[in-house]
Amino acid sequence: MHNSPRCTARSKRSGLPCKSPAVRGWSVCRMHGARGGGLKGQKNGNYRHGAHSQAFLADVSFSRELLAAANGALANLKTSKRNSTGAVTSKTYKEQEND
Ligand SMILES: [Zn+2]
Repeated sequence: MHNSPRCTARSKRSGLPCKSPAVRGWSVCRMHGARGGGLKGQKNGNYRHGAHSQAFLADVSFSRELLAAANGALANLKTSKRNSTGAVTSKTYKEQEND
């Protein structure tokens, strides 16, 4: 057998590994899903505005993560108070009720 990287697919009948050489940059051979797939972006058929494109959806999820982090930091600020020394102390909801 050659030393080139081998396909990681397994036969569904025998359970044995495929053993064919993997396509460069892929972990599977040409018969097990390397390359192929649809065109990306504007080259793909009924493309209109990109509002559902992979790139746009990745941007949206990143901004949501940022917003969630900012909201978490804000909530942290609201529940913390400064004591007489000026240091910020965090109090639980129950502790604040008794103030
Ligand atoms: Zn294969």
